[in-house]
Amino acid sequence: MSDDIIRRDPRAEWIARNRLHPLHDAMKQAGAAEVRGPSGLIRRNPHAVGFIGPNGIKRIDRLNGNSQAGGSRRAAAKTVDLPLHRVETPDYYIAVVPDLIGGRLTAHDKDVLGQAHQLVSAAGGAGAVLTIVFGDIREDSFDKSGVDRLMQFSGEQFEGYAPEARIAALEHIEKSLAPKFWLFPDSVAAGFELGCRLAARLDERPLTQAWQVGPETTLCRGAGGSSDITRPTQRLLLLAPECANPIDETRHEALAMEAVELGATEGKLSDLGQVAVDPNSVALGEAEFILSAGNGVSNWDNFHRAAELLGATEGGSRVVVDDGHMPRFRQVGASGTWVTARVYVAVGISGAVQHLQGIGQCDKVVAVNTDIGCDMVKRAALSVIDDGDEVLTELMKLVQEYRQLEVTDAA
Ligand SMILES: Cc1cc2nc3c(=O)[nH]c(=O)nc-3n(C[C@H](O)[C@H](O)[C@H](O)COP(=O)(O)OP(=O)(O)OC[C@H]3O[C@@H](n4cnc5c(N)ncnc54)[C@H](O)[C@@H]3O)c2cc1C
Repeated sequence: MSDDIIRRDPRAEWIARNRLHPLHDAMKQAGAAEVRGPSGLIRRNPHAVGFIGPNGIKRIDRLNGNSQAGGSRRAAAKTVDLPLHRVETPDYYIAVVPDLIGGRLTAHDKDVLGQAHQLVSAAGGAGAVLTIVFGDIREDSFDKSGVDRLMQFSGEQFEGYAPEARIAALEHIEKSLAPKFWLFPDSVAAGFELGCRLAARLDERPLTQAWQVGPETTLCRGAGGSSDITRPTQRLLLLAPECANPIDETRHEALAMEAVELGATEGKLSDLGQVAVDPNSVALGEAEFILSAGNGVSNWDNFHRAAELLGATEGGSRVVVDDGHMPRFRQVGASGTWVTARVYVAVGISGAVQHLQGIGQCDKVVAVNTDIGCDMVKRAALSVIDDGDEVLTELMKLVQEYRQLEVTDAA
């Protein structure tokens, strides 16, 4: 019998949970800040976090300088090894074609991968989630996002806007692997168009804006998201954002599968490259990069200059809109626009719950604020604690220097 095998003792676990049991003190895992839960995953024990300070009051050091860590303020972040989900010889595949904007999985892509695993659980057997990507990859967390197999098509013909070449690749996969389901994010980025094109090519009817997928029927959002329509579940699913929870409790193999050489595709479309547009003409709900102002901004000329230089779409909190610094359609939040930007920079915004609701789907939030304890700083992936106007001025200088350097290097 190997010592590595985790053996559970349900009675001891029950006593450890039951504070009135006479053996409770002896059984509880005293002091263990992390315990292994019944599913084998490491769980935090909130009762064991913190330490008793000199005046006898329990303290929690949120900067990770806990007494157990020897008082070091830079205690190394612990990496938790999630259980590995392996599919050695798949009985069937569920194909996912993510948008992979900028070479990285979007939040919507991760929801779709979560949905793919729900379908595997419902169908049973050894199903593998096959993710098909085109062009360059910058993503490094395919394994933690639920990718069992990864097939990459690279080459000039797949770069940029190339639906014809991409559909030829998907058709080839359909012929060789016959996936049980085809899943696409129902998004303007690429998923909707590719999904519809594949459906037309395979002469199958896709479900759009699907979000509760059952074995027999699926709920699809209709009428601009204001009602739900029940439809029979189809093999091609174009999924709405938040259709399922992303994978966060397992690791996957993300094994590379060889993509066939398809050669040049005869196409009627040619990509003439991107066209520069005024970022402020992009609808706030579709903007990828938003520079948003709050009550902490006082130099408005500076703010507009910064947005222009960075190529960002402008947004604002309700307070600045109410104060007349911005038009109503620029308001972000529960009573304004819900945004889905990949990068959302919040300058001088406190992070009231109504504002945070509106940025719930943004990938990366950057906060610039003088208050380290404000809710926007807690929500942000990166925070700059300083005066907003000064940070924007410095940022503009850095951008100008960087662009100058690029011009000199190119010359
Ligand atoms: C029904 C209802 C609906 C609402 N809907 C919305 C909505 O859709 N959108 C929305 O935004 N709000 C909404 N609100 C309002 C919301 O509750 C907040 O009042 C609002 O979001 C606060 O805006 P703010 O963060 O810009 O201002 P404040 O709360 O005043 O925060 C200003 C922030 O700027 C920081 N700051 C100050 N000076 C500087 C400086 N020099 N440099 C950097 N930072 C600085 C401060 O530390 C503070 O964090 C709603 C409220 C209600 C009741």
